Amino acid sequence: MPRGDGKLNHDLLPNDPDGKGPQDACGVFGIWAPGEEVANLTYFGLYALQHRGQESAGIAVGDGKKILVYKDMGLVSQVFNESNLASLRGDVAIGHARYSTTGASIWENAQPTFRSTAVGSIALAHNGNLTNTGDLAQLVEKAQADSGEIEFAQRPLRSTSDTDLVTSLLASHPDRGLESSAIDVLRQVEGAFSFVFMDETTLYAARDRYGVRPLALGRLERGWVVASETAALDIVGASYVREIEPGELLAIDEQGPRSSRFADPKPRFCSFEFVYLARPDSNLDGRSVHATRVEVGRRLAREAPAEADLVMPTPDSGTPAAIGYAEESGIPYAAGLVKNAYVGRTFIQPSQTLRQLGIRLKLNPLRDVIRGKRLVVVDDSIVRGNTQRAVVRMLREAGATEVHVRISSPPVKWPCFYGIDFATRAELIANGLTVEEIRTSLGADSLAYVSLDGLVAAIGRPKGNLCRACFDGEYPTEVPDAHLMGRQLGDLTPVQSLISSLPSAGGGDALGRP
Ligand code: SF4
Repeated sequence: MPRGDGKLNHDLLPNDPDGKGPQDACGVFGIWAPGEEVANLTYFGLYALQHRGQESAGIAVGDGKKILVYKDMGLVSQVFNESNLASLRGDVAIGHARYSTTGASIWENAQPTFRSTAVGSIALAHNGNLTNTGDLAQLVEKAQADSGEIEFAQRPLRSTSDTDLVTSLLASHPDRGLESSAIDVLRQVEGAFSFVFMDETTLYAARDRYGVRPLALGRLERGWVVASETAALDIVGASYVREIEPGELLAIDEQGPRSSRFADPKPRFCSFEFVYLARPDSNLDGRSVHATRVEVGRRLAREAPAEADLVMPTPDSGTPAAIGYAEESGIPYAAGLVKNAYVGRTFIQPSQTLRQLGIRLKLNPLRDVIRGKRLVVVDDSIVRGNTQRAVVRMLREAGATEVHVRISSPPVKWPCFYGIDFATRAELIANGLTVEEIRTSLGADSLAYVSLDGLVAAIGRPKGNLCRACFDGEYPTEVPDAHLMGRQLGDLTPVQSLISSLPSAGGGDALGRP
């Protein structure tokens, strides 16, 4: 599946699986707004969240009597058009832009997921990654055995995602009402989740007790909106109200929002959202992502100064930190690399000749700016190092006399089990090499990362309220040691055997990435 819309620094090496960087893990959007064109507003909300997932997109709409779901593989703009949006009419809607962290990249795993029950239906969209899918699969089996349904493993092909298990559980007690059974189900779900879900009339939003992934509430003149990032509130004209709290379930219907708690909050917000994942024009918990990144750049300049003529970013996500580095150091800022923002949208595979050009398909140096200069090049993070190695080589070929690489996050040494697909631990360059060895591998004149304390100070939250596990290995939830070496918790849980037994489900890949 060709990648999306060109924001990601780490996807600068076309068709190079080893050049792939951290992959975002889904954007979710929900709206309750009778009288508004809820499907169209959801479409624009997903458009603003496209950077969080480009594999598939979907919208579910409820009109008081039924739920209609439309979803397909591809970008939001490829999946939806005026005609299919016009068929999605109602008062409440949810939407999803997906990147798979569990479940194969197949249509069946596109979201929103859907279940009909004896009294209605449910649609659900998920950002995050669950860490007890084995337990959840057993609960689903039990619920189905109790109700006389066909055993999960004997059913024809259907979704292989953790999200599907939660949808099944929510649908398993239709007699109790969705709001009440959701409280029970959410108590049993572990890991990272920002859920938006709905029945025919009511919108729900829930966030895990750690609040790992973002989820914000906004207000429309005639309704309410929830979204992964505030940029999606802005695009539909909603004003920001607040974050959905860790451990909170919010229900929204004609009586307005109703809040309840399913778990005690233990905030551990993902620090990597500030580094790279979120849009710079979003606010996370009232803190501007752009301003945070600029501040990280300032701290980086103080912690790791360099003798240089120019500061430049690897576009785009290195840009705010490069601005901060230039401001603090007094070294002039310049854009030395121009990004071809649209090449990521093409479905035409590059020829072998073009592939050999590698990064030049996406970045082109401004030789007049670079020639004869000592450069500080600021990037947000290094995963495998392939992109930065190619950038350093390109800048030297364009005439740079020195290249000093500065990274606005600490070294990424540990995998993420909460919805971000970095790489296996063995693939992370900082896991096996010292900073000096990484510098040699990149071919840079110097290399420095911001410290973890510097990053935490720039974010402005207490260290204990942030997840920093990919930097320091301190996971907020229990993660068995053996799993730290693997790519994905789900690879090793009992649910793998259950799900891989599904016909055509992709065998051993059922919970891994394509
Ligand atoms: Fe975010 Fe890293 Fe924690 Fe994953 S491990 S949730 S990317 S801080």
